Amino acid sequence: MRLIIEARLVDGDSDTVEEGDGVLAVIERPDCSLAELGLTLAEGRSLLAKVQAELISKQVQWWLPSQTCCQKCGAALSHKDSRSTVLRTVYGKVTVKSPRLWSCACQETAQTPQRVVHPLSRALIRRITPELVYLEAKWAAHLPYRHAAAMLKEVLPLDKGISSSGIWDRILDLGNQLDADIERDIAQLPGCVADDQVRESSHVASVSVDSAWLRNCDFRTDASCHVNIVAGRATFKDGPPKLYAYVHKEVTSAAARLDQFLSRNGVAIDERVTVISDEGSKLARGRILDWFHIAMKFRAAQRSVFGSNVIDSMERESVEDEINHAKWLVWHGKGSKALERIKALDSRLLSREGYEFKTLWWNLNNVSSYLRSNARTLVNCGARHRKGLPISSSIAESAVNHVVSYRMAKKRQMRWTDEGAHCLAQVRVAVLNGEFSPRRISELKTAARSYGKSNGPVAEGWRQPADRAKCATMQ
Ligand SMILES: [Zn+2]
Repeated sequence: MRLIIEARLVDGDSDTVEEGDGVLAVIERPDCSLAELGLTLAEGRSLLAKVQAELISKQVQWWLPSQTCCQKCGAALSHKDSRSTVLRTVYGKVTVKSPRLWSCACQETAQTPQRVVHPLSRALIRRITPELVYLEAKWAAHLPYRHAAAMLKEVLPLDKGISSSGIWDRILDLGNQLDADIERDIAQLPGCVADDQVRESSHVASVSVDSAWLRNCDFRTDASCHVNIVAGRATFKDGPPKLYAYVHKEVTSAAARLDQFLSRNGVAIDERVTVISDEGSKLARGRILDWFHIAMKFRAAQRSVFGSNVIDSMERESVEDEINHAKWLVWHGKGSKALERIKALDSRLLSREGYEFKTLWWNLNNVSSYLRSNARTLVNCGARHRKGLPISSSIAESAVNHVVSYRMAKKRQMRWTDEGAHCLAQVRVAVLNGEFSPRRISELKTAARSYGKSNGPVAEGWRQPADRAKCATMQ
């Protein structure tokens, strides 16, 4: 059996069928068995590539005659020569003939002599379809760049049309565009409102923010430096949760980022939202200190009692109890009383020889300085817990896992630059929030162009991508 697939072009205005000269594919199944059932992957890819090439060349042929006349006077433009233009699409690279024309005599002046017009290049500035950009970015948000390129090559006819370095460029470009879009939103956010006008949000259940550290591959900075990435998650009373993320060094204000994220998700500027975070002082909007991080610090102090040889075994229980009491005072919102208790314990132990060199001393001081610097964000966790209100950013831990760990994990030996991690985080969050599509990519370009026109090129937020050679290990 032989299946022949041919291309036939039907003119849009009439029913005339133009007989295509090309057979697109001949699929042969010589023996009558079901061993090779249906199209194979290779046959499917080759067929798609040929259909794409055929369709694009016909579309370009159809479109070109409308471009060969002067837009002002309608006179035919004279042909100079032809070049070829390569377009990258989801179904492979397509090379099309692109004629070059001489500009019309009606547009010539003493200052602007006759010039060459290149209609196809002007219409297809980027020479890559938004769908391919979408697929590359979406899969790079889930997989290392190399694996994303290999996977797309496997299922689509993209053998020469895709590379991991190309995908990385796309992520940097898109990440910068998404970032610039957020910055444009921030610039348009209304100012703060007076405290007495603030009301509790009826829309958001809770917001929690946490951070994680990634290995740095930027050799211009200290090799021991890490990339600090922040991820947050908002749960809503009437809808799925949403995520946001950024690299600390890449943004000017953490509070502005949170405000923009909330406002994009329908929270008005005069609405109060509870933000659970381990660094309350940096965030606005009714923030409270995360119980999870407080409990972890107390736990570290309690554990170091065991290993401390300045406390004998008889006394260990009472020291542990003292730390435990301080923890429950914090749970009930009595931060200053807890601080007094820790201070008293610390002064009692200071009389012991060598105590100030022990882990216990360090951990107790860590707890008290943490409570002191975040005193204003301590709340009565017990009362909140009884009312069923959130007290812990463990959902933010899952946001960090979701946004950061699964894709940029340290276990995978990945190294990042601040900019690379920031750009990927923007794309990944957009993908995970279900806000990423070929249409969104086109909208971003249009928005950047129109904003750039009215505010100058600098306002587009575009930055020079980092030196690729120096980031060879970046995934
Ligand atoms: Zn003209």
